[in-house]
Amino acid sequence: MSNPSPDLLICGGGIAGKACALALAQSGLSVTLLGARPVAAALPSGSYTQRLYALNAASRQLLDQLRVWPHMPPERIEPVRAMHIRADGAQLAFHAQEAQAEALAWIVESDAIERALDLALRFERRVQIDPAQAARLHRLPAQSGWQVQTDDDRALQAPLLIGADGEHSLVRKVSGIAMDTHDYLQRGVVANLVCAAPHDGVAFQTFADGGVIALLPLAPLQGRSMVSLVWSAPEALAQELLALPPQALAQRVDAHLHGLRAQHLGPLQATGSAAAWRLQRQLARHTVADGLVLIGDAAHRVHPLAGQGLNLGLQDVQVLAHTLQQRPAGQALHDPRLLRRYSRARAEQVLALATATDSLARLYAAQSRVPAPLRALGLHAANAFPPLKQLLTRYASGLPYLA
Ligand SMILES: Cc1cc2nc3c(=O)[nH]c(=O)nc-3n(C[C@H](O)[C@H](O)[C@H](O)COP(=O)(O)OP(=O)(O)OC[C@H]3O[C@@H](n4cnc5c(N)ncnc54)[C@H](O)[C@@H]3O)c2cc1C
Repeated sequence: MSNPSPDLLICGGGIAGKACALALAQSGLSVTLLGARPVAAALPSGSYTQRLYALNAASRQLLDQLRVWPHMPPERIEPVRAMHIRADGAQLAFHAQEAQAEALAWIVESDAIERALDLALRFERRVQIDPAQAARLHRLPAQSGWQVQTDDDRALQAPLLIGADGEHSLVRKVSGIAMDTHDYLQRGVVANLVCAAPHDGVAFQTFADGGVIALLPLAPLQGRSMVSLVWSAPEALAQELLALPPQALAQRVDAHLHGLRAQHLGPLQATGSAAAWRLQRQLARHTVADGLVLIGDAAHRVHPLAGQGLNLGLQDVQVLAHTLQQRPAGQALHDPRLLRRYSRARAEQVLALATATDSLARLYAAQSRVPAPLRALGLHAANAFPPLKQLLTRYASGLPYLA
């Protein structure tokens, strides 16, 4: 049974919500986390689950600080040593070594992150996990916080409510915060594939009329070299891909990459079926309101071509925990000045990333007005200019890039 009046209520127990509960509890606050269900106890031994993330250095740092990273299975985490981007016959390459970084990112299964978070939360006595969903929310009078009515008809309240409840966020709707939405009319089709040639820790991305294909290197399982496919495909093509049996999908990816002269991994084989997510850019006009904060996908969703959506959510967590922890003695958690400080601290990075991924998605869309030779020239120029590549690598790491 939950503490009926903790310091904070977090609505939404995805990765952002769980990490937020842990970070705030570790800074001494009592938290009730609503809507959190532990994931399955064991990961499948011979395959990967469908949902994988490229975590950047800032996310890794946060998960280390939260003592979560050490509980993720190292044999299922693959460091990305290099990234090759191909478009219009030109190539742009990033190397971790050039950026003096250990890796450009780490590819990890969603379930591996959640399991490690579940384990850490189990030992955190300041967090109460409540699997119920928030059904209704009410602002209490005289700035005394929010009351949440759960779907099993209990009432909980706290001075500060955090909305980590994803793209259809109830918290955002109830607060009246408007959302700017752009539908890419694409789906992110994901599947895990076995490749004949080793990937050498290289992530590969190609932009073409059929959408953006990313092949992310996975740690070998049972001696097999594997990649995770994320194909951001126009809606009709995505439906076609989803209807294919797994092996036919692998052959289709092969054929598409051959057509682009970009098949370097040998024949691909399927390991299971594909899944797909609708791709939208969504930006909440505000990330704070009266006694309330939005984090993660409840606040922003970006095109997955840069693999940054969850990274942004985890950086929200880092900044929110830091802001609340650094508040002057006596300042209430829901003080609007404090919440505005958090909001200002997040605004620039979120907007910059949403704009950058959006511009790239539009630049390479089939109906793009920029001619292919001009785009190729731009890619060649960027590749020949190491300081720009270093800056981009640093920016994607999520770490302060003017160190
Ligand atoms: C194809 C694809 C590939 C991607 N690849 C990457 C990548 O490589 N790297 C990366 O950083 N990001 C990536 N992303 C983005 C990433 O998936 C999301 O940003 C991330 O999952 C959002 O996490 P979240 O915890 O904010 O939201 P969610 O995962 O949506 O979690 C929200 C939680 O809130 C709960 N909830 C909802 N309503 C209520 C309620 N009323 N009461 C209680 N609980 C509620 C839900 O059940 C859920 O558990 C990708 C996205 C796509 C589509």
